[in-house]
Amino acid sequence: MATAGPIVMKFGGTSVADADAIGRVVGIVKGARDSSGLPPVVIVSAMSGVTDRLLELTEAAGRRRDAHVLNGVADLSRRHFEALERLLPPESASDVLAEIAAHLDDLRALLKATAILRSASPSAHDAIVSSGELMNSRLLAAALQHGGVATAWVDPRRAIVTDDAHTKAAPLADPTREAVAREILPRVAEGRVPVLGGFVGATVQGVTTTLGRGGSDYSAAIIGAALDAREIQIWTDVDGMMTADPRIVSGPRVVPHLSFGEASELAYFGAKVLHPSTILPAVAKDIPVRILNSRRADGGGTRITADPPAADRELAAVACKRHVTMVEITSTRMLMAHGFLRRVFEVFERHRTAVDVVTTSEVSVSVTVDDDRHLAAIVEDLRAFAEVNVEADLAILCAVGDNLRNDPRIAARVIGALEGFPVRMVSQAASRRNVTIVLRDADLALGMAQLHREFFE
Ligand code: ASP
Ligand code: MG
Repeated sequence: MATAGPIVMKFGGTSVADADAIGRVVGIVKGARDSSGLPPVVIVSAMSGVTDRLLELTEAAGRRRDAHVLNGVADLSRRHFEALERLLPPESASDVLAEIAAHLDDLRALLKATAILRSASPSAHDAIVSSGELMNSRLLAAALQHGGVATAWVDPRRAIVTDDAHTKAAPLADPTREAVAREILPRVAEGRVPVLGGFVGATVQGVTTTLGRGGSDYSAAIIGAALDAREIQIWTDVDGMMTADPRIVSGPRVVPHLSFGEASELAYFGAKVLHPSTILPAVAKDIPVRILNSRRADGGGTRITADPPAADRELAAVACKRHVTMVEITSTRMLMAHGFLRRVFEVFERHRTAVDVVTTSEVSVSVTVDDDRHLAAIVEDLRAFAEVNVEADLAILCAVGDNLRNDPRIAARVIGALEGFPVRMVSQAASRRNVTIVLRDADLALGMAQLHREFFE
């Protein structure tokens, strides 16, 4: 169901890495404002690298590397003030200067306390890492205002209400909806662009929390869902999800539309434009999520919705995972005794090793693992009841598309396109949304190019 709420625009760390990037964002937000009635709601990450730096400084404070910590805060301070200087003339900058200085004061105090206590409590940790988003949202709000956009900085701790699971807090839907109605909607109604830091929320008692790494996308989805947004735009530094990995296949195209299921499948294969689970609150409410490039604002990007793809779109994309190892396990009895699979998987579980692709036959099971640190121990345990064969230097090649479910000819063509390559495993997941092929890593580039040509060129 289409809704009439505002658009939510989220800008990631690389879209706001420095003053030039922030300048481009100002242009994009101005454009969005001109073309629709309601002003958009803007969510912004910390500048790129800042969250990592804050985490490192927290750790350093706990080890009493006091000088290192002071230098680190000075770097962060310089980075924000330099951007400010380039974006605003001094006479317009005094308010935002004082606001950012206040966040830096809090940060210094929190790191000092961490040094004295020799560790940061979970709530101190969240208060420290939230500074990146708090400062950057102040900066962006001021830059927008200076660029002629009426804005209102909104404290995300007053808008996103979470549980108290610090460092990976979960939003509470009803209190968040009320808070968004109270803190954000009136600004939109006044025609101002609310600007909020992502990643950050607070408990019902007002204690600062964070939503987990990469959490600004989650913030955009949470706020979008609470607002019944028309669309959520995730502005990043790539053109969208691609039909293949551009490092392996030359000239892949942007996938214009993905179903949520397809996006989840592709994300697993390292198409890490976003973590699909973070946009679930939006997709559950049928709000389209669009991935766009802030360096090339005129591209259409990739839309992710709950809708299935058009019936004639055969595949969404092909993806891969390189350098995996296959373990072939054959029952030493004639047929697989019952309990065999359980024993096999218990071994992997005991060694905390995730398996990716699994195929079985009457007497054997083959699995791939990506993390081979515990392989020797795993093989030893498996040999207690099975014959084991290990093959390294393989790759997983995966064709993804919801229509694989409806049209068996697509899967047949996927396999046909790889004719001539020695294939180690073939599997179609229960979702039947993908066909997965394990082949030699040395054959991957050619195999993927051939598959891509068959469906996309
Ligand atoms: N700044 C946070 C992080 O780096 C959140 C985000 O960028 O989405 O994890
Ligand atoms: Mg991110």
